[in-house]
Amino acid sequence: MQAETVNDGEWALAVHGGAGDADAEHAGSEHPQAAHAALAQALNAGAMLLARGADSLEAVETAVRVLEDAPLFNAARGAVFNAAGQHELDASIMDGRNLAAGAVAAVTGVKNPISLARAVMERSEQVLLAGAGALGFAKTLELPLAEPDYFWTELRWRALERARSNQPQPRGLGTVGAVARDRRGNLAAGTSTGGITNKPVGRIGDSAIIGAGTYASNRSCAVSCTGQGEYFMRTTLARDVAALIEYAGLDLAAAVERAISELLESLGGRGGLIAVDRAGHCRCQFNTSAMYRGARSSRSGGWTAIYRDDLRAFD
Ligand code: ASP
Repeated sequence: MQAETVNDGEWALAVHGGAGDADAEHAGSEHPQAAHAALAQALNAGAMLLARGADSLEAVETAVRVLEDAPLFNAARGAVFNAAGQHELDASIMDGRNLAAGAVAAVTGVKNPISLARAVMERSEQVLLAGAGALGFAKTLELPLAEPDYFWTELRWRALERARSNQPQPRGLGTVGAVARDRRGNLAAGTSTGGITNKPVGRIGDSAIIGAGTYASNRSCAVSCTGQGEYFMRTTLARDVAALIEYAGLDLAAAVERAISELLESLGGRGGLIAVDRAGHCRCQFNTSAMYRGARSSRSGGWTAIYRDDLRAFD
């Protein structure tokens, strides 16, 4: 992701659709085309809001919802299956203005977990709600629910079957996230996922954990991660990027490079992140072969990419 500076009154938005190994299953299929299109759609939806002066939080939720609704990503519709053949969803969102945060873990049947995470942040006293409690909260608020069929995709079912029969499983792509800086300089981040194929029932990953998969502070940056969640939780990776800026005085590029290349890799973890800082610099860093990603700002048109060098511009 190219570095880009945004001045006062300008905005920047980055999104991702997961880091992993470019799957043989995806190669030569419609998948890459559709992924570029969905990333661009998410960027356009968020950009339209930011251009009109909306908050970064609004743009992040909107962009993540577009990706949650797209069946090709591992979030909400299209999420991976757990070991019991169910979808247990994790999501989190954070407001850099005041460190307000909301998250849901192992929730089932909620159409847009990112919006439930935002509701936890804004309409409850809690930061994290899990399982039946999270679903109950969604019902109380009358947020849209969906039947298991809605989340079911052939691609993810085949991945579960492969995992169950111990066939080699490429590191899956598809968790989604967004980070934004709005015209007032406020930062926000959000992440949503179905987790890891064939995960044990009740397993919760970094995408539900503030500081691990998601973090935002106006003092430093907004970060959304993807990859093997256990490593991101052990390294509190998203918060570490912010801390490297806040306490060690690194710039965003150096902070994300160090977080992925040193911290994550020192434990053998694989994945990536997107981040935006107070000045509107956007960065993406990953140590997998591919990461669905893209960015757009008030100063330049949008672009999306999957591999290292396949940036595609769009208006
Ligand atoms: N981080 C997610 C999790 O561990 C999965 C991913 O990003 O691919 O649940």
